[in-house]
Amino acid sequence: MPLIPEIVAMQEEFKAIRQQIHQHPELGFEEVQTSKLVANKLQEFGYKVHTGVGKTGVVGVLKKGDSPKKIGLRADMDALPMPEENDLPYKSQHAGKMHACGHDGHSASLLLAAKYLATQEFEGALHLYFQPAEEGLGGAQAMLEEGLLEQFDSDMIFGWHNMPLGTDKKIYLKSGAIMASADCYTLEIKGRGGHGSAPEKCEDPILAASLLVVALQGIVARNIDPQHSAVVSVGAFHAGSAFNIIPNHATLKLSVRALDAASQEITAARIAQIAKGIALAQGVEIEISKQAAAPVTINDPKASAFAQEVAKEVFGEEACCFEHPAAMGSEDFGFFTQLRPCAYAFLENENTHYLHTSGYVFNDALLARGASYYASLVLRYLG
Ligand SMILES: [Zn+2]
Ligand SMILES: [Zn+2]
Repeated sequence: MPLIPEIVAMQEEFKAIRQQIHQHPELGFEEVQTSKLVANKLQEFGYKVHTGVGKTGVVGVLKKGDSPKKIGLRADMDALPMPEENDLPYKSQHAGKMHACGHDGHSASLLLAAKYLATQEFEGALHLYFQPAEEGLGGAQAMLEEGLLEQFDSDMIFGWHNMPLGTDKKIYLKSGAIMASADCYTLEIKGRGGHGSAPEKCEDPILAASLLVVALQGIVARNIDPQHSAVVSVGAFHAGSAFNIIPNHATLKLSVRALDAASQEITAARIAQIAKGIALAQGVEIEISKQAAAPVTINDPKASAFAQEVAKEVFGEEACCFEHPAAMGSEDFGFFTQLRPCAYAFLENENTHYLHTSGYVFNDALLARGASYYASLVLRYLG
């Protein structure tokens, strides 16, 4: 079973919807118009619609027959705070906001699958999760904390993300860890400033922060099992204002990634220990705060095996890649994978610009490909 012809036939209609969402990008938890559009469409297709789940999230429910089986499909709706540089007829109309991660396409593709599935025979419950705020703002968590799975539980949950730069129309879907955890840390170093000519009267936060930057690199080198993967990057270092003033404060911002929970925990513990040690040695205070985090996205073996069979039917065996390195980027779909058997896939986007760049363009041919995959998962499981 290749792409579903009825879905391919409707692609133009959903291309227009995708481009409409693209023109009006909304940031995380501000997806008011987008979620309204999604809710209206789902209602039109015959779904029971629940809005305001996790602020701006939308859930579409379609039940047929008496089977207790239930399946969940997830798309994200938020845009990014960056300008669009593309000269497209449907380019972003909101300065400084852009769908540069293709979430407009993910949502439109799930709507396309939704319309097709409403016309099909199946036994069980179909749950469509349109989540807000995937870009580091905790949209999945917000929906889950509001009881998403208590109200709209699923035996398995599936998602996919477009993957630019590929040209072979491939699907990547490996079992196990597919994307890394992401933790953001801010380290506030409070010293005692003074005249640059009199360091002996100061507790220099710049020296302490510099020692921290170097010591933090020892975590991956010396504390993480060499067979495992982790990243500790210092992305920001702010301190001082002049040649001859030792400042009172310095700030470091870190991005930490890992492909397993143990490495994530080791890294967190070591950051705290290193900061404590350097604070003591340098006579400064170091405060650590942890911001938005995502766990490792782990594909369940059974859900993956099921999705791999479906992928082979939809895309053909030659387009399927089930053994590939995990990505060190993160996804808040990881929160779903902690709670239910899930499988997350990457679909090649055949685009020359990467995600989160101003030249990125979502390839509309993915709408029917993604929707055929989604619809086939549902019909195979509830058929
Ligand atoms: Zn993104
Ligand atoms: Zn994304």
